[in-house]
Amino acid sequence: MAKPKLFVTRELFEDVIKKLEQYYDVEVWDKYTPPPYEVLLEKAKEVDALVTLLTDKVDCNLLQQAKKLRIIAQYAVGYDNIDIECATRLGIYVTNTPGVLTEATAELTWALILATARRIVEADHFVRWGEWWRTGTGWHPKMMLGVELKGKTLGVIGLGRIGSRVAEIAVKGFGMKVIYYDTKRREDLEKELGVEYRDLDQLLQEADIITIHVPLTDKTYHMINEERLKKMKRSAILINTARGKVIDTEALVKALREGWIAGAGLDVFEQEPLPPNHPLTAFKNVVLAPHIGSATYETRHAMAELVAENLIAFYEGREPPTLVNKEVLKVRPPGFK
Ligand code: NAP
Repeated sequence: MAKPKLFVTRELFEDVIKKLEQYYDVEVWDKYTPPPYEVLLEKAKEVDALVTLLTDKVDCNLLQQAKKLRIIAQYAVGYDNIDIECATRLGIYVTNTPGVLTEATAELTWALILATARRIVEADHFVRWGEWWRTGTGWHPKMMLGVELKGKTLGVIGLGRIGSRVAEIAVKGFGMKVIYYDTKRREDLEKELGVEYRDLDQLLQEADIITIHVPLTDKTYHMINEERLKKMKRSAILINTARGKVIDTEALVKALREGWIAGAGLDVFEQEPLPPNHPLTAFKNVVLAPHIGSATYETRHAMAELVAENLIAFYEGREPPTLVNKEVLKVRPPGFK
C-alpha cells in the first residue's frame, strides 16, 4: 500500500519529520509565511493528513472539498482556526497539543506580569536611549516605581492547564491571593492552593492583576469589553496570553488612553502580526510580545513530537492520544483503511 500523503504547513523539526516519513509521504511548506488559503485548499484536496498551525484557516468550505482528508494534527493547543463541528460531521479527526506547552506559556505569562508590574521594557529604554544618563543621578527614591506582587490579588480567567499553573506560581512563588473564574468550580485547586471562585464581574472588581487563559470560542469572543474594563480597578494590570479576540481591542485602547486600568501585557492580538503603527504600540505601560507563549526550544519540539504521536497512532488504527473531537470515533474508526 502506498503511504498516505501528509502536508505540513510549516517547517517543524527535522528529526520529527524523519520519524513521520516512515509512515507518511510528507510534503513540508518551507516558506516563513503560511500557505495562502487557495494553496492550502488545493493541498487539502490531494492529501490524507494535514499538520496545521493557528495561522491556517481550516473552514467547512475547505473540509468539504478535502475528500481524502482523514486527520488534521494541529500544532497548538488552541484550535479556533478549525471548524471542529464540520470536521466531526465529515469524519475527520482533529488533534491538538495540550499539556506540553503549559509550562512555557505559564512562564511567559509571568514574564509579562513582571515586565508590566516592574516596567522592565520602559526601564530598558530609559537606560538604552540615554534618559537615565540625562537625569544626572544614578538613583532616586521615585525613579521608575512599579507595584509589588506579594499580598496582591491575581484574578485568573480560565483555570485550566495554563491558568492553574500560573495560579500555582502566584501562590507558591509570590505569596499572592488567587481568585478565579471558569465554567466550573475547581474544588481540588481550591483545597490544594487556596484559590477562591468568583463570578467574572466580581473577579474584575477585586483583582490587582488579571490574566486570561480561556480558549477562543463564541462565548469568550470579546469577553473583556468596554463594560468589563470599566469594572477593573484603575490600578489593575491586564495580561493576555490566550487569544487576542477574547479582548475587544478598541475598548482596551480606550481604557488605556483614559486611564481606566494601569497597564497591560499582551502576547496575542486580534490582528497578528500587529502593525507597527497600531495604537497599542504607543503606550509605555503596555508590554507587547509576538505570540511567543509556547516559544521555547523544549516546548516547540515536544509539540512536534505530540503531533507525530497523534499521526502515528491514527495510521496504526489507534485513537490519537490528544483527539479533540471524540465524537468522530462514532462516525469513522481511526486509520486509512
Ligand atoms: P484548558 O486546559 O482547556 O483551559 C481553559 C480553561 O478555560 C478550561 O478550564 C475551560 O473550561 C475554561 N473555559 C472555557 N470557556 C470558558 C468560558 N466561556 N468562561 C470561563 N471559562 C472557560 O486550555 P489550556 O491548555 O490552559 O490553554 C488555554 C488557551 O491558551 C488555549 O485555548 C490557547 O488559545 C491559549 N494558548 C496560547 C498560547 C500562546 O502562545 N500565547 C500558548 C498556549 C495556549 P472547560 O474545560 O469547561 O471548557
